Amino acid sequence: MPNFTLKDEVFLRAAEQYPTPFHLYDETTIRNRARALNKAFAWCEDFREYFAVKALPNPAVLRILKEEGCGLDCSSATELKLAEVCGFSGDEVILSANAMPPEEFAQARALGARINLDDLTDIELLRTHGGVPESICLRYNPGGHFSIGNTIMGNPGEAKYGFTPEQLREGLERLKMLGVRSFGLHAFLSSNTTDGSYYPELAKALLKLGKELAVGSGLRFTFVDLSGGIGIPYRPEEPEIDIGAVGEGVRKVFEEEVPEGGVAVKTELGRWMTGPAGWLVTHAVHEKKIYRDYIGVDACAVHLMRPAMYGAYHHITVCGKREAPADHIYDITGSLCENNDKFAIERPLPEIRLGDLLVIHDTGAHGSAMGYNYNGRLRGAEILHTADGSFRMIRRAERAEDYFATLDGDPAAEALCLKKTNKPVTE
Ligand SMILES: *Cc1c(COP(=O)(O)O)cnc(C)c1O
Repeated sequence: MPNFTLKDEVFLRAAEQYPTPFHLYDETTIRNRARALNKAFAWCEDFREYFAVKALPNPAVLRILKEEGCGLDCSSATELKLAEVCGFSGDEVILSANAMPPEEFAQARALGARINLDDLTDIELLRTHGGVPESICLRYNPGGHFSIGNTIMGNPGEAKYGFTPEQLREGLERLKMLGVRSFGLHAFLSSNTTDGSYYPELAKALLKLGKELAVGSGLRFTFVDLSGGIGIPYRPEEPEIDIGAVGEGVRKVFEEEVPEGGVAVKTELGRWMTGPAGWLVTHAVHEKKIYRDYIGVDACAVHLMRPAMYGAYHHITVCGKREAPADHIYDITGSLCENNDKFAIERPLPEIRLGDLLVIHDTGAHGSAMGYNYNGRLRGAEILHTADGSFRMIRRAERAEDYFATLDGDPAAEALCLKKTNKPVTE
């Protein structure tokens, strides 16, 4: 079930201090999860989690993860810059390429980052933009379906990522001529899975392939990058994946496939690391009864896109009413002129009164980060609930002048952009 460790009192206290809507992140939960993951893979020398920056690109959070020994998985110039300003460099950063602007290879190489190539054509781009390092990672796409037992876990044949096995062979030959000495293999074949056998099965496939490629190429095979994809229980009835058992499952596969050692494990978890450590906090501001009962809140899809985009479930609680019977059926909506702007559809909840504080759970990954500005709606603040129980604003809410700031040179926009006086247009 979702993470219920924070009491309603915490959300109410935060909402007294900061205007809603905002995402609240819990430092203790983030640290505990990083520690549990590191413990699960402590058997592996050279294990490292490269947190997927895109899941929660806030420096305050990235620095916490750095303190816990994590690195960062970056996929853009901006994410690389974030890594750099937070003090990550060298082996603490991995760049995952996909249709990248070539300059980003050069930027990553200047930072000393590991490079994860996505395609044969990337090799030439890397050679001419920053140069080819001695150790490299290649992303594998097995095609078809990825199944465990009878269950289809993913559809790599339709995914835009990675090399085919033949291309891996060809790529390694080319890379060897360019000075590469060792390689690792990366694959991301299933998203948000709570099946504990996903990582072990993926590790097995990568180890078998890596050993074969090492023999063929004469290069050393030194790591597997199991990437992201481990899921979290968004619904109350879903179980939490046992990360210790996952680590143990991967260890067994390693004992069978590479008893001589020499191959390390890397991960790039985003959702599993911070998803349960975030909540979107919002007030009920509108009530309407037509063919259904609607509660309008001051957050909208701009603050959390997953329900609108994927039909994703996010659990919702009403502060002070956790024990009350869920005897009302509501659609919980935002204010966008888009009918998919609903955080919940026909959801049984306790009776909601205007002014009630609603908590939307598990928004700590792919939540605020996916924000956008449709309808001129502005993204909300991010608040850290620190280990000592206090609150710290780690990103302010957007203001209208932020929205207008990119309309460079337009006189009307300049009139609207009151940066010089630093006075917000609205509020
Ligand atoms: C998105 C992404 C991740 C993280 O995925 P989660 O589902 O959040 O675990 C890791 N690696 C790469 C390359 C990604 O694109």
